[in-house]
Amino acid sequence: MRIGMGFDVHRLVTDRELWLCGVKLEHEKGLLGHSDADVAIHALCDAILGAACLRDIGFHFPDTDSRYKGIDSCKLLAEVMRLIREKGYELGNCDITICAERPKINPHIPDMQLRLAQCMGCDVSQVSIKATTTEKLGFTGREEGIAAYAVALLL
Ligand code: MG
Repeated sequence: MRIGMGFDVHRLVTDRELWLCGVKLEHEKGLLGHSDADVAIHALCDAILGAACLRDIGFHFPDTDSRYKGIDSCKLLAEVMRLIREKGYELGNCDITICAERPKINPHIPDMQLRLAQCMGCDVSQVSIKATTTEKLGFTGREEGIAAYAVALLL
């Protein structure tokens, strides 16, 4: 068994769509980034890559590469899964925590679990997603950005 952790932050801005765990949420702001800026998937990719000692998401998908401009992060996650399977690993389970003051994440968690399980080729029971506010403290509390943490266990 091997464990990995990941962390990511993206800035909230107007005129961007908000994508979290492969699901589009209705909100007046979205996350800024070279890809679709799905902060939760990026943290998850780093956790999985970390567990396999395969560097990080920026190493595999550099934001200077135009191929990844506006890309659906689910495609990056699917490629991360291909990389770890190539090394003989399989996902045990993963656990994601999203830190956001708004919008409410909890109603979307079942859809998010389903979407991530589809793109990782695993069972929904292997994908835990949690959400928290930071009690209006810090950049997430001021709604300047969204942060995400993830851990993954590989077998
Ligand atoms: Mg990122």
